[in-house]
Amino acid sequence: MEINSVTALLKYADQLKDISDTAVLDVELLLSHALDVDRAWLKTWPEHVLLSAQVVIFEDLFARRLTGEPIAFIIGSQGFWSLDLKVTPQTLIPRPETELLVETSLALDLPDNCRAIDLGTGTGAIALALAKERPNWQLTAVDSEPAAVKLAELNSHYCQIDNVMIYQSDWFRQVPLLGRLSNYHLIVSNPPYIEIDDPHLTQGDVRFEPASALVSGVDGLDDLREVIGSSVKYLEALGWLLVEHGYRQGSTVRELFRAAGFISIETKTDFNQLQRITMGCLPQAG
Ligand code: GLN
Repeated sequence: MEINSVTALLKYADQLKDISDTAVLDVELLLSHALDVDRAWLKTWPEHVLLSAQVVIFEDLFARRLTGEPIAFIIGSQGFWSLDLKVTPQTLIPRPETELLVETSLALDLPDNCRAIDLGTGTGAIALALAKERPNWQLTAVDSEPAAVKLAELNSHYCQIDNVMIYQSDWFRQVPLLGRLSNYHLIVSNPPYIEIDDPHLTQGDVRFEPASALVSGVDGLDDLREVIGSSVKYLEALGWLLVEHGYRQGSTVRELFRAAGFISIETKTDFNQLQRITMGCLPQAG
């Protein structure tokens, strides 16, 4: 086998086995990035020999992965739903688990011109996926971090999505109350929900992500309490709230929904059979 061929460089995966559960995929992504080709190209041209400058670029990317840096930050993007989103270390990397929130929202019986808001949008993942699927919906996406607002705007531009309004707001604080007959039909959020002393925070990808996007007080529920408690004022009658949460938080979150006055409360499990999102509906007015 030719040294510096695609096949030879893919073997770097062996060195990553202890660091990553997806070592082969990681190296394919890094190599595709270094060569500016897609992964299918690597399969088609296994004997292709890289120029030495390309090898240097690849080895540089690979060295970063060896330190544990997430692939999404190294290559600057992450697939979510049908979108390719830019990511930066100022935002959470969109997770496949969060696609359940998108899928469940799309399955609800909502008006054609649905008004929906995504709280703590980060890269814009949830809002942009919904906007892409439902061009007639009017979406709003807010985040308290200016860097996230900028990134979500950039992503909306790259994905050519024009039905999302994005601005800075700390949860609902800067969101105007639209009035009784023009509130939101749908509120979605994947807020931070990790306990401050959770040992997982010192392992894997999350070490490189901003604590503000991950951690929420001693029991991990500070932000969920705020989102669930204040959503009631911003929803239409029969409007829905859907939130993502930790796999052990399902029963507490359902209780928070009940206490806030929601009905039809339900928790859905993700592809690992873990309780991951909870939803509830506001009762008919009057
Ligand atoms: N809404 C974004 C996402 O799901 C960011 C969530 C967050 O920062 N906690 O990817």
